[in-house]
Amino acid sequence: MQHWPVVRLWILAGAVLALLVGALVYLYLQLSAARVALVAAKAELSGSVEEVNKKAIDLSDALYLAEQQIAAIQSRVGGFEETVGNISGTVGTLEKLSKTDPELLQKYSKVFFLNEHYAPERLSQIEKAYTYDEDRIEKVLTSVLGPLEDMLNEAKDDGVEMYVKSSYRSFNEQSALKNAYSVTYGAGSANQFSADQGYSEHQLGTTVDLITTGLGGQLAGFEKTKAYQWLLDNAYKYGFVLSYPANNGYYIFEPWHWRYVGVKLATYLHNRNKNFYDLEQRQIDEYLVNIFD
Ligand SMILES: [Zn+2]
Repeated sequence: MQHWPVVRLWILAGAVLALLVGALVYLYLQLSAARVALVAAKAELSGSVEEVNKKAIDLSDALYLAEQQIAAIQSRVGGFEETVGNISGTVGTLEKLSKTDPELLQKYSKVFFLNEHYAPERLSQIEKAYTYDEDRIEKVLTSVLGPLEDMLNEAKDDGVEMYVKSSYRSFNEQSALKNAYSVTYGAGSANQFSADQGYSEHQLGTTVDLITTGLGGQLAGFEKTKAYQWLLDNAYKYGFVLSYPANNGYYIFEPWHWRYVGVKLATYLHNRNKNFYDLEQRQIDEYLVNIFD
């Protein structure tokens, strides 16, 4: 039995080998199972990614549709607002027009009459700093006071001092004035000095007679003064126009007599070198709504 220990060794080695192979097979099977599981997991995962993508696409489609609908609603709302805006704009214009005295842009001269009962809605006193006669209270239509004082201030800044000699005159004052002139100068010339009562633009409260300092600064000769030239160049910016310029067909030349017609109409007349009385009343009326803008 010399070989027995060798045989035992072989058996032992064979057993160890078998164990190792068994372990390898087991590990291999484990690995395979893991691979299969991994492939399955991957497949499952890719499936869910597709699903997520699909859901994302669905969601963005829904979002897009919602945005389209919102845009459509917004444009409808916008259109509605615009319509409402237009309507309220028209209403605003009509309301403004209904509150604006149509007489303020009527033509008054020997041809056009102003009712003797007419009186401006609201008058304000012109500060004494701007008036010629400190004993007399001068008034203009409240809305005209600002533009008038602005104009006189600007003229003063340009070295031209002007004062209001006459402003609002009621029908009765105008009448008394005319009678006084009649007594002094005779009936014929009274009409030249002072408009027949009721014809006068002074009854509107929008008109002033201006004088300046220095020789010839009073009414007669006013057309030769620096102040007159300044008014010709600048009065329109404040809404004032010369009602009766030289050689007009309506009244005598009154270089001192300036009437407020609003900046828009005054600028229109100035830029075209036209006179208020040369326009058709229909055309003048178009400026009524903007007279105090
Ligand atoms: Zn006048």
